[in-house]
Amino acid sequence: MHIPFCLRKCPYCDFNSYPRSRWSREDRRRYVGAVARELGGIGVSCAPVSLYFGGGTPTTLPPQDLAWLLGLAKDKWNLGEEVEISIEANPDTVDGEVLQELRNAGFNRLSLGVQSLRDRDLAILGRSYDVQTVHRALQDARLAGFTNIGVDLIYGIPGQSPQDWRETLEGALELEVEHISCYSLQVEDHTPMAAAIMRGELALPPEDDWLEMFQMTVEILGKGGYEHYEIANFARPGRQCRHNLLYWKNRWYLGVGAGAHSHWERRRWANVKDPGTYADLVAAGMPAVEDERSLTEGEEMDETAFLGLRLLGGVDLGEYRRRFGRDLGAVYADPIAQLTARGLLEQADGQLRLTTRGLPVANVVFAQFIRD
Ligand code: SF4
Repeated sequence: MHIPFCLRKCPYCDFNSYPRSRWSREDRRRYVGAVARELGGIGVSCAPVSLYFGGGTPTTLPPQDLAWLLGLAKDKWNLGEEVEISIEANPDTVDGEVLQELRNAGFNRLSLGVQSLRDRDLAILGRSYDVQTVHRALQDARLAGFTNIGVDLIYGIPGQSPQDWRETLEGALELEVEHISCYSLQVEDHTPMAAAIMRGELALPPEDDWLEMFQMTVEILGKGGYEHYEIANFARPGRQCRHNLLYWKNRWYLGVGAGAHSHWERRRWANVKDPGTYADLVAAGMPAVEDERSLTEGEEMDETAFLGLRLLGGVDLGEYRRRFGRDLGAVYADPIAQLTARGLLEQADGQLRLTTRGLPVANVVFAQFIRD
């Protein structure tokens, strides 16, 4: 469920998200009503294994609205605690009371956008909280009964050195959370940060530093007891994010809300991005879809191969054969031979996976799995 509102817009971000102040309380209420209506219209009877409230920053909405939407989904599919029900939040949008309401409503996984444990980095990223607020939010989350918490971190921030990043990683270990995601900063075109970089006011770290930061991440979080299970994701044993595993295994999912993406029965589609237009269309009983296309079997095969390679365990060759009736090794024989010879891919225990050397250049590998 996509909630497209944030406290303010971060200077590097081009997600479908908007400062909350741009939408009146009434507009936001209308938006929540539209999401509820779209959810109610889903004609799929099989119960989901995961529900994910993302954004944006879902917790910019009142917790009662979020609890109401979750309640509709729970009633619709009769969902219990065994379903992973996640909510994204930023540290300055939650307090003990809000977190307690969310936990009572049935959210059982919290994904907290921390980004850095250094105030200077947070300021460069345009985040509206400090490190102390992060600690307070996590403490409140534990007190509210969240036993499955993930934090997102970013490296490659302008002015950040490998030593600065080490500080954040070591601080992250002290948070004792179940899951840590570490993404390299993507400065999207036409954002204020991209413009500041163009003007020479900010500079991204040199390429060697990025590589060092990636390797440092793997080493420090590994030693701290986190399993590196996806290029950017680390988890305590048994705490992998079930929701994201669905994407990496190229399974089916339904997105609800403005700009939400869906993948179902070899079709992909996306809703209109603008929250107001989305709410108007849904209120008029019209489809909110703006972009829809069918996938060929070849496209589905390519996607399953390169998304699966994001997982450190790799692509399960037996599962691939059962799904498509073809051997992955035969379909991509040439690229696999070349990438294996370069030491970037390996095959073992019925899995095809990236090697340690292949991990930092994963995109080069993935490109070889896209056929024309
Ligand atoms: S909080 Fe997240 S979604 Fe919202 S503007 Fe910042 S980066 Fe984008």
